[in-house]
Amino acid sequence: MTKPTGQDCITMLERLIAFDTTSAKSNLELINDVADFLKTLGIESRLTFNEEKNKANLWATIGPKDRGGIVLSGHTDVVPVAGQEWSSDPFKMQLRGDKLFGRGTADMKGFIACALAHAAAIKSRNLKTPIHFAFSYDEEVGCTGVRELIADMADNLPLPVAVIVGEPTSMQIIGGNKGGRSFVTEIHGVDGHSSRPELGANAILAAARIIRFLEDQQNRLRDESDPNNGFVPPHTTLDLGTISGGTAHNIIPALCSFGWGFRMIPTDDIDALEAEVRQFIDDEIVPPLKAISPKAGVTTSMRINVPPLLPDRNSPAENLIRHLTGLNQSGRVSYGTEAGRFQKAGVPGVIFGPGSIEQAHLPNEFIEVSQMHECNDFIAKLVDWAEQGEI
Ligand SMILES: [Zn+2]
Repeated sequence: MTKPTGQDCITMLERLIAFDTTSAKSNLELINDVADFLKTLGIESRLTFNEEKNKANLWATIGPKDRGGIVLSGHTDVVPVAGQEWSSDPFKMQLRGDKLFGRGTADMKGFIACALAHAAAIKSRNLKTPIHFAFSYDEEVGCTGVRELIADMADNLPLPVAVIVGEPTSMQIIGGNKGGRSFVTEIHGVDGHSSRPELGANAILAAARIIRFLEDQQNRLRDESDPNNGFVPPHTTLDLGTISGGTAHNIIPALCSFGWGFRMIPTDDIDALEAEVRQFIDDEIVPPLKAISPKAGVTTSMRINVPPLLPDRNSPAENLIRHLTGLNQSGRVSYGTEAGRFQKAGVPGVIFGPGSIEQAHLPNEFIEVSQMHECNDFIAKLVDWAEQGEI
């Protein structure tokens, strides 16, 4: 069988881009299309669904089923195009010059397309080490969909040896990523005329004190962090993205809520950080509110919780990519990926894929044609290796 070409990968990418898999929508049309495609090649898919059954992950194994192998992992969902100015239909891939435009070209259907374009060729080989496809939903809203896939994998399948998460890294090795945990905090105060502040409980002032505490916490982490850990910036950072509260300047605000979180380096203990914040709120913020009214108080609920990827230069995942590519550097990124969830489940991971994160999430997102060719070459090498090699 002839080897797939970069053009085969590009043709497959065009097919995937045509599905509008914005995270808020169902991804089933794409998943069913991929499952049907694999079925025609004699490859079975395992699907795991969300509760509403309108989104699914797809897992497929090519090669021996009695041992762990290499997972090629990608998320099928894309970020919204609403409010963005596009010069072409984001869901109809367009080649202009040496770039392919469309939502998800870089982040991250390019990698999925390369994997799928190789499916028939992989199937035709006599692999020693199996290659698995793992395509998830809801990555862009907190890496939540892949949890079902990982649970199914951990419960029912031989544990894979390594996972390659094909986020756009311009085909460079990324061995670690920051995690993310975010919350919404709501302060319920007591309203009143602002000329008598002592009779009310000002929810905005309480929020301001908590936010100040969060900033101090971040500054402490910054001062304590190792400046050479490879992350940019090299410390856990505070996200403070939204706040709302109050109705008029002369009314004591009874309600204030704000969204916040941390993007943590893998060596910081996020549970301890969260506990510190909750302790501060309980000790310093809640008592003065309750003194005005027992109904006043503070609630903090978690919205997103993505574990970091702890770098491990000697993991089978990094070793394999170094071996196949000759690359030696291993970088770090400050955004969350699914690799940390695989690592927590015992599968070492590395982030490595075509396209640049600089184009991700933007209008006129694109991937360079050359990146698709490079990824095609890489997967061909991986398949050659999987026929002979074992790790
Ligand atoms: Zn992505």
